[in-house]
Amino acid sequence: MKKNDKSMDKYRILPGKPVDLKKLDPNDSSNFGGDKKEGKEELLKLNKKLEGLQELLYAEQKRKFLVVLQAMDTGGKDGVIRHVFEGVNPQGVRVASFKTPTAIELAHDYLWRIHQQAPARGEIVIFNRSHYEDVLVVRVHELVPREVWSRRYDQINAFEKQLTEEGTTILKFFLHIDKDEQKARLEARRDDPEKRWKFNVDDLKERKLWDEYVRAYEEAISRTSTEWAPWYVVPANKKWYRNLVVASAIIDKLEGLKMAFPEADFDPKKVKVD
Ligand code: AMP
Ligand code: MG
Repeated sequence: MKKNDKSMDKYRILPGKPVDLKKLDPNDSSNFGGDKKEGKEELLKLNKKLEGLQELLYAEQKRKFLVVLQAMDTGGKDGVIRHVFEGVNPQGVRVASFKTPTAIELAHDYLWRIHQQAPARGEIVIFNRSHYEDVLVVRVHELVPREVWSRRYDQINAFEKQLTEEGTTILKFFLHIDKDEQKARLEARRDDPEKRWKFNVDDLKERKLWDEYVRAYEEAISRTSTEWAPWYVVPANKKWYRNLVVASAIIDKLEGLKMAFPEADFDPKKVKVD
């Protein structure tokens, strides 16, 4: 992120730190010195950078990169996928969306369907919802008893550690909007014929459980933000700023991998193309 270029570390939750979402401002845009228009221009530059880094990752065929997106309804998961990854070569980037589990998925353990979608070498995978639903919606709606979901934080940490040790880099983003912003976005979906397809009457029921979701998110983020798979709480009321934060954090991480195009396994000077 330019215009001051402060690190996105500000939004990273330190391992073991309690999370109080009320104290984290969803309207914050303090890491960027410009306005919305400049923010959008900046994102175009970040898109280019990300495109280059993704190509390197793909060319190297060594590492795996996983981005986890979680948010309340209307929080902007789809928007991040569309805007942050705009221009990136679709070959090598994949989105995995996790919906209400099917009967087959429910017959397995909750990580079964997740592991299958984890990135392969050279691949970036974006999780649109994730295994975290199994300590969020599942907890809020008591879909399994407390003793079952409460064990899952440790299980998730162990699972993510294993993925990391096998070469996956993991970044997790909670897109943080407030309840008023959700109201405005739901109303926009209700009223705009081009957005109405996204309006889900069930979202209104979930909205009534806002406080329960907040509690579930706070515990999940606090207990599963680890050195190997950190959570970022992204201020997301301003869509342009949300996109900048996510894009910058991903770019910083990819740059830190110090990737390089693979060396040729032949002498290019000696190979003639007739
Ligand atoms: P959407 O992302 O709007 O298409 O909605 C997907 C729905 O699937 C949401 O209501 C999620 O809460 C629900 N969902 C995703 N994962 C799970 C899960 N593990 N258990 C129950 N519901 C889930
Ligand atoms: Mg929805």
